[in-house]
Amino acid sequence: AERRAVAEWDGTGTTADGHRVKVLGNVGSTADAHAAAAAGAEGVGLFRTEFCFLSALTEPSVAEQRAAYAPVLEPFAGKPVVVRTLDAGADKPLAFLAPDPEPNPALGVRGLRVAFDRPDVLDRQLEAIALAAQDSGADVSVMAPMVATAAEAAWFAGHARAAGIARVGAMIEIPAAALAAREILEMVDFVSAGTNDLAQYTFAADRQLGAVASLNDPWQPALLRLLELIGVAARDCGKPAGVCGEAAADPLLAQVLAGLGMTSLSMNPPAIQVVGSSLATVTLTECVIAAKSALAGAPSFTGAA
Ligand code: PEP
Ligand code: MG
Repeated sequence: AERRAVAEWDGTGTTADGHRVKVLGNVGSTADAHAAAAAGAEGVGLFRTEFCFLSALTEPSVAEQRAAYAPVLEPFAGKPVVVRTLDAGADKPLAFLAPDPEPNPALGVRGLRVAFDRPDVLDRQLEAIALAAQDSGADVSVMAPMVATAAEAAWFAGHARAAGIARVGAMIEIPAAALAAREILEMVDFVSAGTNDLAQYTFAADRQLGAVASLNDPWQPALLRLLELIGVAARDCGKPAGVCGEAAADPLLAQVLAGLGMTSLSMNPPAIQVVGSSLATVTLTECVIAAKSALAGAPSFTGAA
């Protein structure tokens, strides 16, 4: 096949031989959403809703949440947007959902775990998301952060479907969830790997601590093997699996992730063009070969000392 030049990315994520891999934006504000749309994002793979309320002292009402979400969704009318429910705690504390003091906040009550204690907060957020989806015309899905088990995914899906949300997903960012990807996929419509936290928990290396930053490397074969489990499970279930952590923003790693079976990649807006272009220069077979090398820890791929 004739290869397309890097400068010619047309805004549709495909490999050189036409295999679709959606190129999506990560957003946390209206400004981010406009930047993602301007960069050519096909949609949003991660809307970090907690970013809207980092300075809120009390829980925003349904009306306030609706008003915060709708302008983020509007640039993507008619396009897919994955809204993540509040991921409060650890590196993203929210004053109105602060847990009791914990010795290890990254291992404590954060993400979906907050909702088990406060399902009323989750239900009000889901109501606001459904209303904002109507306001904006975006094709909205929701997904839960920090899912550990299939039972948790099922619990979340029950709440989201009761709120009238058509498509429901689970983030896979805990190693146990990667190992249970098949069972989780039976409960939801799609999964999205959060490689920032998945690396943190796989390597037991705090994502905020510079001293252990070299371990939080998404090229590490151990992390890629967990992503491979997700890709294989998704293919077997016939459901989509994306990556929405920083790993997706690396144009070479993006090829590996496509080779591992990921059907979408979501990244910060400045990476969208370069990742879209990178995918367009290689065939799916080349992505699979790159994935095999990286999984095996070929030195040229890991850069390991
Ligand atoms: C992740 O953990 O990879 C992720 C996408 O979520 P966040 O960075 O918001 O924790
Ligand atoms: Mg995360």
